[in-house]
Amino acid sequence: MVTTDDPNGREPAAQGAQATRVHGRAQQHAGGDLTEELLTSDWWTDAMVQHAGIPIVDVPLVSVGGGIGSFVTVDYLRIAGVAPDHIRVLSNIDFPWQTYEYLTRVSQIPRGERIRSDSASRPDNIWGFPSYALAEAVHDRTLGPLWQVLVEPIWADYYTPRAGQVFAGLEREAKRIGFPQMVVNGQVRMVRRRQGGGYFTILTPPSDAPPSDAQPTQRVAYRSSFVHLAVGYPGLRFLPELQEFRTEHHDFHHVVSAYEDHEHVYNLARTKHVVVMLRGGGIVASRVLQRLMDDREKFGLSTQIVHLFRTYVSGSHGPNAWNRRKGGNGFAYQGFNYPKSVWGGQLKSRMRKLEGDDRARAYKLMGGTNTPFRRRWQAQMRAGREAGWYRTMSGTVKQMRLADGMVISEVETAEGLIEVAADFVIDCTGLEADIAEHRVLADLFEHSGAGRNPLGRLDVERDFQLRGADSGTGVIYASGATTLGGYFPGVDTFLGLQIAAQEIADDLARRGFCGRIGTLRSTAQWLRWAFGRAP
Ligand SMILES: Cc1cc2nc3c(=O)[nH]c(=O)nc-3n(C[C@H](O)[C@H](O)[C@H](O)COP(=O)(O)OP(=O)(O)OC[C@H]3O[C@@H](n4cnc5c(N)ncnc54)[C@H](O)[C@@H]3O)c2cc1C
Repeated sequence: MVTTDDPNGREPAAQGAQATRVHGRAQQHAGGDLTEELLTSDWWTDAMVQHAGIPIVDVPLVSVGGGIGSFVTVDYLRIAGVAPDHIRVLSNIDFPWQTYEYLTRVSQIPRGERIRSDSASRPDNIWGFPSYALAEAVHDRTLGPLWQVLVEPIWADYYTPRAGQVFAGLEREAKRIGFPQMVVNGQVRMVRRRQGGGYFTILTPPSDAPPSDAQPTQRVAYRSSFVHLAVGYPGLRFLPELQEFRTEHHDFHHVVSAYEDHEHVYNLARTKHVVVMLRGGGIVASRVLQRLMDDREKFGLSTQIVHLFRTYVSGSHGPNAWNRRKGGNGFAYQGFNYPKSVWGGQLKSRMRKLEGDDRARAYKLMGGTNTPFRRRWQAQMRAGREAGWYRTMSGTVKQMRLADGMVISEVETAEGLIEVAADFVIDCTGLEADIAEHRVLADLFEHSGAGRNPLGRLDVERDFQLRGADSGTGVIYASGATTLGGYFPGVDTFLGLQIAAQEIADDLARRGFCGRIGTLRSTAQWLRWAFGRAP
């Protein structure tokens, strides 16, 4: 067996009950960076890491990412009785909703606007009670939100909480469970299996970081039995013609992504007449469209909007009379990004049994770009169509060029090639990059036995264990967008992240790492939540 530097001679990565412990410079021999031996070896020994001069921190579990996925997983584990010093969250952000808040803000959901998910999807409350609607009703002393959930979606749109309410709840829960104390800032470079069991997770601390678990160094190795990966989206991918345009013209001004800050478009529209071309038919396109339409109304602007759909939906669609989705004027309509039964109904149980191509086909059937049907948006678009300032078209862009400060898009339509001139093109297609573009995931594919699921993302078991990456008694779990295509479809949602967290906590309870969240613990813990007491 490999020697360890644990003073008690125990095997650190397999214990699960040992709190954070630092093994510093005493064991170091080299410059504290990755060596050729480490870079090329699938399995690392403690001696290899020590020889490289990289300080080792022992902690039973690390969560990589630090966003909403890490947060809800840590929340479950804290409620299941895990002490804060048994968990480290390795992250390049300062608070869990930072990336989410950035993406929602730039895609036109500032704190005062309502997000997409429902009243009970509370990432700050594993019980979903009180729901956001109840909390808002009590806070604002109004019955409005409760009435809305009662009559939705027939007589009212689905109730959804304001982004600000979600962030305030997350902040409160983060404080309650001691989340900030578990976060170590830095960039995770890789996770490698350890000979003897468990893993090494290599963190590159920020160059100006004050010493935290270890002394300032180029790298720190976290030696743990369990690793949880929740790294969010691997990155943005632009449609080829948009990418070509941006690269050729070095122009990040006229052609923008809805996931980038593009406030200059709205600012310019307030000073002069502009034509904006929108691309995409999902919720982000609806949001950007709403902002353009709101500003038009609020400031009396003359903005013209040309909305291009690649797949134009003109009515209800689906394989049969029972399996249809509403649609019209280009959009496919659906309250949430998946049918509700994905989170706990028939569809959830059917998906758990599907493998390979059958699963891929099921995803194709229920997926696809869609947006909620909201009465306000419908009224605004109708007004725009009637007055002629909002036009839709269907087609594929073949080429884009710049002429007299305008972006000319050559669009191939059923009627032939049409040229559309616009001051700005806002891309709301939101294509995600391949997960192998994420360095940590690429490394897992290459060195740690991880594989791809039928949709090409990380292949996880029903309890979110990363298939093929076991190391002795150690396990890697993964949740979020990187696992889309697995046995549970709603992974990239608050509720989906919580369902994954629950599966992970149950599996860790079976392994003796934490307690089980049964009826008694759950009731007692809810009371602690309600009174703001630590778990
Ligand atoms: C615009 C938008 C709106 C959405 N609205 C909703 C909604 O209304 N309801 C809903 O349920 N879901 C919604 N989602 C989906 C999903 O719930 C959120 O995206 C959520 O933030 C996903 O959590 P996550 O932890 O997987 O990713 P994130 O919250 O993005 O966190 C992952 C973090 O990992 C960090 N990271 C990555 N690699 C490394 C590394 N190597 N080292 C250190 N850190 C790293 C990233 O910087 C990132 O901050 C929305 C998504 C988007 C984009």
